[in-house]
Amino acid sequence: MFRLKIFAVLVVAFGVMQPLEILADESEVRLRSIEDVSINDLIEGTQFMTDDPDRVTMAWWLPDEFWAVSLAEDAATTEEGAAEIIDLVSRYTLVIYVDGEFGPLGGVTFVSPEQLRRGARLQGVDGEEVSPLAEADVSPDMMLLVGSMRPIIANMLGAFGQNMSFVVFPREDSKGQIIADATAAGEFTMKLGETVFPVKTPLPSLLAGKRCGTCEREYQGDYQYCPYDRAALQYGASE
Ligand SMILES: [Zn+2]
Repeated sequence: MFRLKIFAVLVVAFGVMQPLEILADESEVRLRSIEDVSINDLIEGTQFMTDDPDRVTMAWWLPDEFWAVSLAEDAATTEEGAAEIIDLVSRYTLVIYVDGEFGPLGGVTFVSPEQLRRGARLQGVDGEEVSPLAEADVSPDMMLLVGSMRPIIANMLGAFGQNMSFVVFPREDSKGQIIADATAAGEFTMKLGETVFPVKTPLPSLLAGKRCGTCEREYQGDYQYCPYDRAALQYGASE
């Protein structure tokens, strides 16, 4: 339900464009073209919630490809405009957090945005923990973009949306390693206090589909073997 609402927000906020070249040079993984990526699948693969019955805790990573797909569907956005936005967001790692505790009747007491920021960390593949950037270290354009997204989502989602916090992290850790790359093989972790959400990349929603040469079944691109006959899968589903 929540995801569908978010999707509706984005369709309103953005909407279709040319394929972008941010998904280039991959040899090992075969990527879909941007216009074949399902925004629903992309959101589902980047939005994580705890199964704790007493809390509602969410971390939602917005990778560059999220913007590329959203903007590619937006008739009102020019190719140049989309490229500028993607250039902007690609300098950062953007995660939306929300955290709250259910009361006995189901009312939620939300954690404040300041407190959310204090508990938010990313951990890259080399194990280094990265803190959110101070507001002064985020470009005014990025603050503007984040600020323009916030009320759109908040209006649609009521209390839940109003208690979301957009947290801007650096693109790279102190060693210059990209923390979260949606198209490269790797893993990173979104943390909020003691709560951890590991994310494996490349995101399956960005991969081309695969096919089993034995039984002809088709699979998501992150499958290696056919679960029915164990044949090694090849890229090339009929989509
Ligand atoms: Zn098979």
